[in-house]
Amino acid sequence: MIGSGREKSLRRRHPWIFSGAIERVEGGPEPGDTVDVLDRRGAFLARAAWSPASQIRARAWTFDPEERVDDAFFGRRVSRAVETRARLGLLDADEACRVVYAESDGLPGVIADRYGRHVVCQFLSAGAERWRDVIVAALGDALTPAGIYERSEGAARRKEGLASRRQVLAGAEPPPRLEFRSGGLQRIVDVAHGQKTGAYLDQQLNRQRVARHAAGASVLDAFAYTGGFATAAVVAGAKSAVLLDSSGDALRAAREEAALNGVADRCRFVEADVFDELRALREQGRRFDLIVMDPPKFVHSAQQVAAGSRGYKDVNLLALQLLAPGGILATFSCSGHVDAALFQKILAGAAVDAGRPVQILERFTQPPDHPVALEFPEADYLNGLLLTAH
Ligand code: SAH
Repeated sequence: MIGSGREKSLRRRHPWIFSGAIERVEGGPEPGDTVDVLDRRGAFLARAAWSPASQIRARAWTFDPEERVDDAFFGRRVSRAVETRARLGLLDADEACRVVYAESDGLPGVIADRYGRHVVCQFLSAGAERWRDVIVAALGDALTPAGIYERSEGAARRKEGLASRRQVLAGAEPPPRLEFRSGGLQRIVDVAHGQKTGAYLDQQLNRQRVARHAAGASVLDAFAYTGGFATAAVVAGAKSAVLLDSSGDALRAAREEAALNGVADRCRFVEADVFDELRALREQGRRFDLIVMDPPKFVHSAQQVAAGSRGYKDVNLLALQLLAPGGILATFSCSGHVDAALFQKILAGAAVDAGRPVQILERFTQPPDHPVALEFPEADYLNGLLLTAH
């Protein structure tokens, strides 16, 4: 039951019910149980999954009082998500795509990424956890994959009081070097050991857009992970690339992937802290024609916005100082708390400090397999700018 005045967001169909909005709980629900959320007068607001350990105490499955949360419900939601991707032409047999994007697809806490014939899932809330087998069966029916693997890990699960888990859920174990194609490139993913579900599918389209500016360029790919941006740029005609990451494992995979695409001889792989290495390159007087800056999430909560903004400014100031005249900086933020306007303001500050006129040539956001449900703006997290500095 919801306290008076606190049900406004539910009436706008926002799926999260915070602990402070709950006045009374009846019947002692267990983690993952389906509960009806009512207003003070007892009128139905939503049917939701109960998460007693989390500040997000319940997540709405449906706002329709007639809709039951059962096996058929998950079958419908998974089919709808898969059909949307199919209509967009994103389900090519050997390519990769996010097929379920949690709240945005009406399935709070559920992520599913498809790499060729294998699917990798994350179950990040008590409700998702409760319905895991049903959701896995629905994914099996909708996609007939060779195998479904689980990577349920990270902070979101800890906040729900759930332990980490990685295992095969259905069918075959994914090969340690699972190959797929992306924008004409051959890619490799280690879904059992890589970051998140193995690769960052949210940047697939942006890598192709950045690569259009790569002909003849010397490239610096900061926070490279397995080198998606650098490999695409060198295949598109860049003369050389330096890939920076603090993870040796990521860089080993990057080298393998560059070799698979025939460009390893034009790439240099440097295991280092980006902030330190950019300063060192600046002291050496190095300049690059194309710099890609794709850091991890710097801002995890509203309280971290100021500190995280300084991080974005510092690293982009270094990038602008390393950019050759007329060079291109493709810079990203995957912090949902930093919106497009704030990100642009941060870059404007960095440009002033660098003492260089800088123009926006293009703007980047997340691709259509990471849709944003209008009632759930939290899903809108990826911002990027393609800049040129004179
Ligand atoms: N651009 C990548 C994704 C980057 S994810 C792609 O297209 O796939 C962020 C990466 O930053 C991770 O690989 C992580 O290992 C790395 N990282 C995080 N902090 C770092 C730091 N201080 N210095 C160098 N690398 C860092």
